[in-house]
Amino acid sequence: MLQAIETQPKSLKDYAPLVGEEIIAEIHTLAADLKGARVLHINSTPYGGGVAEILHTLLPLMRDVGLDAHWQVIRAELQFFEVTKAFHNALQGMPLELSEEIIDIYNRNNQANAENLEDDFEFIVVHDPQPAALLHFHGRHNNARWIWRCHIDTSTPNQQVWNFLRPTYLDLYDAAVFTLERFAHPDLRVPKIAAFPPSIDPLSPKNLPMRKEEAKAIVARYGVDITRPLLVQVSRFDPWKDPLGVIEAYRRVKKKMPEVQLALVGAMAADDPEGVRLYARALRRAGDDFDIDVVSNWDGVHDREVNAFQTAADVVIQKSVREGFGLTVTEALWKGKPVIGGNAGGIPLQVIEGETGFLVESEKECALRALALLQNPDLALKMGHKAKEHVRQNFLSPRHLRDYLRLFRELK
Ligand code: UDP
Repeated sequence: MLQAIETQPKSLKDYAPLVGEEIIAEIHTLAADLKGARVLHINSTPYGGGVAEILHTLLPLMRDVGLDAHWQVIRAELQFFEVTKAFHNALQGMPLELSEEIIDIYNRNNQANAENLEDDFEFIVVHDPQPAALLHFHGRHNNARWIWRCHIDTSTPNQQVWNFLRPTYLDLYDAAVFTLERFAHPDLRVPKIAAFPPSIDPLSPKNLPMRKEEAKAIVARYGVDITRPLLVQVSRFDPWKDPLGVIEAYRRVKKKMPEVQLALVGAMAADDPEGVRLYARALRRAGDDFDIDVVSNWDGVHDREVNAFQTAADVVIQKSVREGFGLTVTEALWKGKPVIGGNAGGIPLQVIEGETGFLVESEKECALRALALLQNPDLALKMGHKAKEHVRQNFLSPRHLRDYLRLFRELK
């Protein structure tokens, strides 16, 4: 029933030149106690969105240091993903009327997956709300430690959805992990709440250094005029990521700088049916302005192409109004780009005002900052250096691996 996802092997030692030997040694020390431990990560999509991105690296690195780590994706009806996307939105505060039908769809699909879950794991990490009811339906049959890894900010949720999920499903876990401690709702009753941010893989095709000429050649294939300035936002077509707001901000910039272009680069994740609708709205909003490029994986935009857009960008925007963390911000900072980010969720962890980018609250502010960076490339370059260093210190995969190992050791 659950689908096993295969990942490409990776070797922790390859990361030493980027992160230093000290953390690599610490990871090996932590892992020594966990040799052979059977770990299962469960989420709802093998592709698209931050969780899948993380697991493609975290899994092989866990294996490389001796854990017997696995990744499985739940299978469910399309309706289920409509429901869980609504839960995702509701946990970030959007209204939702919980009906019997919604509850039934959520429970039915979780129960079906739970019945097929194998039992022989020591640590089971369940990502986000979609599979969160697995523990309830599966029950505890051995000594496994169950961890709920929540990638969104649940501090001000829709109460109806929270009151449905929390007591019956979430409170059963042994631990919950959030990106920031304040994302945990004070009512959550799990024995341990941990907080650590996600990470990017500096050695993945999405994040390896790419020459500017190569990046430009790639984006030119998507209709970008490489002789003119380019604003880029890479993200799922999700209302919280505000792609329509980005178009408005771009239009304000264009009044002052008519040559500017915008690329909205978005992937359609299998667990996000809302994406297709917002993609269509973004296209309509762009209308006949051919300086707005709306592209996605449907156009062959995959890791290398995302890398190219981020590398070729003059300014990267992530104008989210809610955001768990925003790996796209990390990815751009790592490429030496200051990021104009919405002042939301985990973005301020990464965008340090005036140092690694700018935090904005409105389209107007976003446009002003974008224009300032476009008109001042030296400033952008200087901020870009700091941006990269900030990511090196805090948001690369080895640190993330270490934080998981520390947690497993504590729960053992
Ligand atoms: N992504 C991608 N192609 C796209 C849009 C997004 O590969 O067209 C990737 C992006 O590079 C990042 C992840 O999807 O690695 C999105 O993670 P983030 O934390 O920013 O947001 P989420 O989608 O998880 O809310």
